Amino acid sequence: MSVLYLFDIDGTLLHAHRSGRDAFDAVFAELHGIADASEGIRYGGKTDPAIIEEIFVARLGRRPTAAESAAFLDAYLPRLHAQLATHGVEVLAGVVETLEHLAARGDCVLAVATGNIRAGADAKLAAGKLQQWFPFGGYGCDSHLRAELVARAIARGRERHAVSEVIVVGDTIHDIAAARACGARVYAVATGADPADSLREADAVFASMAELPRFGR
Ligand SMILES: [Mg+2]
Repeated sequence: MSVLYLFDIDGTLLHAHRSGRDAFDAVFAELHGIADASEGIRYGGKTDPAIIEEIFVARLGRRPTAAESAAFLDAYLPRLHAQLATHGVEVLAGVVETLEHLAARGDCVLAVATGNIRAGADAKLAAGKLQQWFPFGGYGCDSHLRAELVARAIARGRERHAVSEVIVVGDTIHDIAAARACGARVYAVATGADPADSLREADAVFASMAELPRFGR
């Protein structure tokens, strides 16, 4: 039996130096003529489709149509690739060591649970040379609701492995809520937008990923 670890990406595995936000803003300016559309909008823990909807409501006073959301994401991907090529990503302290530690245990399955659409997630992971660790996951293209994409990641894990336990690792209250909705354990890392004291509902809170292997589970 295996323990399925589901890692969030932004703020948990890496920092993308605003690449996603800047790409979103560039697309909104191009398609809808409004600059800095993300100003005042928090991205942490939200899915790409939910962020697009939030920008539309804030700037245009209405939700996007399905076609507008799809067109937005089509325009987003090349922008994201360009941003990542220019700025790169910072893989966070202890991440590679933690992945190596869990893989070496032999009873862990590694995957992602992220609000990024799959192509965006893979682009960010590739920029950090982390893609080989995460063959599957749950993504923002699975659902605009985080709990549902975590459920998809768990379902995909169970299709591939005999999963006895699921542990979500994330940096926001949204990761915690989604894990709870799926009956999963959750470890929080205070390396993203949410401070450690707001993450107390997690089963463990780490100042950085480097603490996870020493936690011993
Ligand atoms: Mg995050």
